Amino acid sequence: MNGPGRRPQTTIFTLMSALAQRHGAVNLGQGFPDESGPAHIIEAAATAMREGHNQYPPLAGIPELRHAITTHQRHWYGLAPDPDDGVTVTAGATEALTAAILAFVDPGDEVIALEPSYDSYKAAVTMAGGTLVPVRLDTPEGAEGHWRLDPARLAAAVTDRTKLLLVNSPHNPTGTVLHRDELEAIAALATRRDLLVVTDEVYEHLVFDGREHVPLASLPGMWDRTVTIGSAGKTFSVTGWKIGWATGPAGLIARVKDVKQWLSFASGTPFQYGIAEALASGDGYYRDYIAGYQERRDLMVAGLEAIGFEVHEPEGTYFVTTSVAPFGYGDGMAFCLELPERCGVVAVPNQAFYLDQEARPEVRFAFCKPVDVLEEGLKRLREGL
Ligand code: PMP
Ligand code: GLN
Repeated sequence: MNGPGRRPQTTIFTLMSALAQRHGAVNLGQGFPDESGPAHIIEAAATAMREGHNQYPPLAGIPELRHAITTHQRHWYGLAPDPDDGVTVTAGATEALTAAILAFVDPGDEVIALEPSYDSYKAAVTMAGGTLVPVRLDTPEGAEGHWRLDPARLAAAVTDRTKLLLVNSPHNPTGTVLHRDELEAIAALATRRDLLVVTDEVYEHLVFDGREHVPLASLPGMWDRTVTIGSAGKTFSVTGWKIGWATGPAGLIARVKDVKQWLSFASGTPFQYGIAEALASGDGYYRDYIAGYQERRDLMVAGLEAIGFEVHEPEGTYFVTTSVAPFGYGDGMAFCLELPERCGVVAVPNQAFYLDQEARPEVRFAFCKPVDVLEEGLKRLREGL
């Protein structure tokens, strides 16, 4: 977001997808699958259309979907948002995030977010008149792995003006899945400092190597202060349907709905029927979904390493963060702007996910593509770099 009177900034995804089109490049930038979701959910949406479900749904979403969301949360996490008062369907997770931020943040408030952070967070906080305070994911002293949460750094960022903690796990773009001890540190801090939490869990079903996704709201003391955000786009490979949701205690969800009614009011009636059907999928669907992505994650990690990238193996999401320093670049943006012409491949520079937007050597490849597309992308990188 820019200031009043200035031209709005184009998102990195729009910019990079336009470059992919112009150069006929393999688009490993913007995160959307090439394949459509399961045929039976597409049929459910088409049936809803044919049966005349083509007018406004209720503001909070059709009851079938709200009940399906509650059942899903109970089945996977033992959480039970009230389908009448504790769930609202939104136009993608993006609207849920924006509505929650506009609902809770007043001018002058501070919102703490993990950095790198998904680009819409800063835009929404700015629209609310608040200030985004980034807390870098890094490797705390003595800890293992990269892009971990340092609880001391998080605690040090809280001031008297902090209103909200904005958490994202599994994390875009790093692929970090917050471990239970990291989540417990967030919960302890939120409780101690009496903070609201908005947690973006759109990649909840994309965790690899037998890891567990733990919703923050499931930790002791967290339910009453947490709004949890989900999206059908990722889990069911229908990003264009833009069906997301916010769940939580009735008091907080009422405030999200108050704002949402002035954003879209409601959207996507037939898609809501499709997603109600999708959420009833058996555990086997989710197992196959993870297995399919884990195979592609392994292919990309091994392929990129063989070409010479420094690769950070993601624990979750369908993104892999690499460093392009081995190719002599300190600036991932410069690398990504050259890549389509040089190799016929598009990636996204991680610096787009930082407040300062400074040059950084990390770039993100999305692997939500069929194996032959990923292999073609790797071949082009191997030959062109
Ligand atoms: N949060 C994160 C972390 C995302 O990566 C995305 C999009 N991929 C969104 C929110 C937005 O989700 P939606 O497309 O459902 O609006
Ligand atoms: N969330 C997707 C990504 O991270 C992009 C969504 C968008 O284009 N706004 O790549």
